Amino acid sequence: MPKVTQTKLVINGQLVNSKSGKTFDTINPHSGKVICAVQEAGAEDVNHAVKAARHAFDKGPWPRMSGRQRGRILNKLADLIDQHADELAGLETLDNGKPFTMSRAVDIPASAEHYRYFAAYADKHYGKTIPIDGNFFGYTLHEPIGVIGQITPWNFPLLMMAWKTAPALAMGNTVVLKAADVTPLTALRTGELALEAGLPPGVLNIVPGFGSIAGEALSRHHDVDKIAFTGSTAVGHKIMEAAAQSNLKKCTLELGGKSAAIVCADANLDQAVVEAHHGIFFNQGQVCCASSRVFVHEAVYDEFVEKSIAMARGRKVGDPFTHVDQGPQVSAVQHKRVMDYIKHGVDEGAELLTGGSAIGKEGYYVEPTIFGGVKDDMKISKEEIFGPVMNIYKWSSIEEVVNRANASSYGLAAGVWSTNINTVNQISRNLRAGTIWVNCWNQFDHGMPFGGYKMSGFGRDKGEYAMESYAQIKAVYVPLENSHWK
Ligand code: NAP
Ligand code: MG
Repeated sequence: MPKVTQTKLVINGQLVNSKSGKTFDTINPHSGKVICAVQEAGAEDVNHAVKAARHAFDKGPWPRMSGRQRGRILNKLADLIDQHADELAGLETLDNGKPFTMSRAVDIPASAEHYRYFAAYADKHYGKTIPIDGNFFGYTLHEPIGVIGQITPWNFPLLMMAWKTAPALAMGNTVVLKAADVTPLTALRTGELALEAGLPPGVLNIVPGFGSIAGEALSRHHDVDKIAFTGSTAVGHKIMEAAAQSNLKKCTLELGGKSAAIVCADANLDQAVVEAHHGIFFNQGQVCCASSRVFVHEAVYDEFVEKSIAMARGRKVGDPFTHVDQGPQVSAVQHKRVMDYIKHGVDEGAELLTGGSAIGKEGYYVEPTIFGGVKDDMKISKEEIFGPVMNIYKWSSIEEVVNRANASSYGLAAGVWSTNINTVNQISRNLRAGTIWVNCWNQFDHGMPFGGYKMSGFGRDKGEYAMESYAQIKAVYVPLENSHWK
């Protein structure tokens, strides 16, 4: 069992207690028992952190040093994450419940790589020289925006911290990060490692606490220049309202989805079954781009259903520190939410093909669940369940399935399985989603943008688009009075 060594707020280069003296408990979802108490950031602590970040931005070295130098420090942080990978993976599994094998193979190395990707970008996001009318030299500068508030969710705690902080820091901004209260441990430890890597005081401040207190204080703060959020659409509305009502701070919102996976009659069916299975069940179904609506052509529907049931039943669920495919849901709240949705599905007449029950008396386990014969207007079709629940739908024509796939308020991801290039192109061009997977699912690369259409939000994480979203563009005109061109 990993040892928890860092439970304090990270503000202005120091590990500190909350001003109020308050703490909150973080829970082990495998047992439902308390892991430890963590310092709880309140509005006063958020103020303190924003003040530190403001000072670090306005007066400190971080935005003023060369991008290359920032890159060296971010590379050092990536190396420290790798050096502490066992410890961080242990903390992630303890706090979140995801299998240790996943934390160790995916979350932690991908976080380190994400810092590395943006370390390399720190000196490469630059402006242009623009030919203009008159005797002027015109050019643009890409400058950091200032103090960035970031609010992260609990499904990939360290990886989402990396997605948010790496481009913001590489660009020369300073950051105040509110980690989700159910999974604060890896953010706190990584905040400490960032100091060891040489991030100057106030550049990266970590303030775990509750959304309605610390999150609200951050998103309403007048000295925060931008807020970047990943989480639910309901909270996304609140963040935008707070931004609008305070200082019109810029926003980036990544708000989940109800992603449609379309299986055509000519698909490699075994491949589609496996990919759609991992698409929904990976990370206990707690993935914003999960393949939660699987549309299967009527000609292959029965075979797809039969094979998917067999795969779901073969899934090993249990203690995430053992060799399992699936651990517990992250919290009692999420466990109840998922169980309530399953009940809705049954009550609305969807066909429960496998699973559907909670497992055990301790911890927050849910059976891998599949509903067949699902109708588009059911609650389980419209809302994000965020659990191990696959919905399967039957379709017969391409036009029909594309319309049904797009008939969602979300638009985060979508996918198609077909061996016909024309079908692939026709469907993928017409799907309204920020990521399209063709004959695959859950493919990610640090350089590929990720973000939503419609109510899945706006702005992009990852790649050059993330650098753009943390940069200001300044246009500079310089008269060429003394030039020999005059
Ligand atoms: P959530 O409430 O949106 O939480 C996401 C983050 O926002 C957390 O850090 C949360 O803080 C914070 N927050 C909550 N209220 C806030 C407010 N008024 N102002 C500022 N920040 C606030 O999501 P959740 O309750 O954890 O999960 C609910 C549902 O959201 C899930 O079932 C799923 O559908 C969706 N979700 C989506 C993603 C995604 O990747 N897009 C990730 C997680 C959840 P605290 O939780 O610490 O209070
Ligand atoms: Mg926890």
